[in-house]
Amino acid sequence: MIRYLLKRLGLSLALSAATTTVNAQDRLDGEADWSIAIHGGAGTIERDRITPEKDAEIRTALNAALTIGSDILRNGGTAMDAVTATIVSLENNPNFNAGKGAVFTWDKTNELDSSIMDGSDLSAGAVAGINGTKNPILLARAVKDKSPHVMLSGEGANQFSREQGLEQVSPDYYATPYRLKQIDDLRAKKVSAADVDYKFGTVGAVAMDRQGHMAAGTSTGGMTGKRWGRIGDSPVIGAGTYADNRSCAISATGSGEYFIRLGVAHEICARIRMRFPEAIKEAQRAVPKDADGNDTYVVHASEFMSSDSEIQQIADDVIAELGELGGDGGIIYATPWGQVGYSFNTAGMYRGRATSEREPSVAIYGDEE
Ligand code: ASP
Repeated sequence: MIRYLLKRLGLSLALSAATTTVNAQDRLDGEADWSIAIHGGAGTIERDRITPEKDAEIRTALNAALTIGSDILRNGGTAMDAVTATIVSLENNPNFNAGKGAVFTWDKTNELDSSIMDGSDLSAGAVAGINGTKNPILLARAVKDKSPHVMLSGEGANQFSREQGLEQVSPDYYATPYRLKQIDDLRAKKVSAADVDYKFGTVGAVAMDRQGHMAAGTSTGGMTGKRWGRIGDSPVIGAGTYADNRSCAISATGSGEYFIRLGVAHEICARIRMRFPEAIKEAQRAVPKDADGNDTYVVHASEFMSSDSEIQQIADDVIAELGELGGDGGIIYATPWGQVGYSFNTAGMYRGRATSEREPSVAIYGDEE
């Protein structure tokens, strides 16, 4: 297992008798050089609720976004750039609840949330309750890259966006007839945001690049009819988005309050990271010491490859707990071993994935691969 790590680090290091010396050229079976997964929201997405035209439109949009991200990764670009560009493409597509096509608040405004995280150094940026910026994911990225903060909100975040020179749009840019009808219906019925299934369409992406770095990002308009400055999980690092080179990258979608309470994105990453405590201790004991007697290297869980089924089980367990609490939705994941996948407890989830080892595929309904 330690071979995996050494290859990933490009190291050739003799550890204990139990481990093997490898060089950077070694290739491990089943390991992808790059990988990406995307989502466009989860919910009551069933065949009889979606017209063939809409089905085709969604698949085209998912394929286009996947191609943008895959091209960046194939050409040696970073996971951060792939995630950013993929989400920009989904934000610009009015079929999704992010950027153009975002849902309306009770007051018929748009308050957008977004976040992004770099698994190589755990740096992150997030914005909540913003408007005016064409692409909220670019603002989240600017918070990460250009400010000393992790999360900005409301008018202050809007001001930061203008100062950073990000593209601004008028308040009616985000509106689509479909979203306007949703808020009008909801207001006419006088029900709350949580009572209606109007929340599909949040977008997200997770990726691993050729350097083995992980990234995750999420962007949303939140829940139709939200009030009082409600903020969901999408901009909350650890709830809707998390990336850590040692374990995984996650982007979530669904009933945000539950994802926040469980800390879903971090919970999945933490369970993967903590999978090998005994093996880590043993490997750590075999690490050579420096002149002062300190370990020359810190071993961590990503060095011990988890199987596809183990990763899927961890994701499914956390989504099952979400369901027990009363939450619905799902996540996409990418691991440092090149695995990408999904877990959701809703009828469907707009989703897609591609790796250096596997053809791109997109899916909508729960019974698709
Ligand atoms: N998670 C988002 C929120 O609660 C909504 C969604 O994913 O559909 O704001």
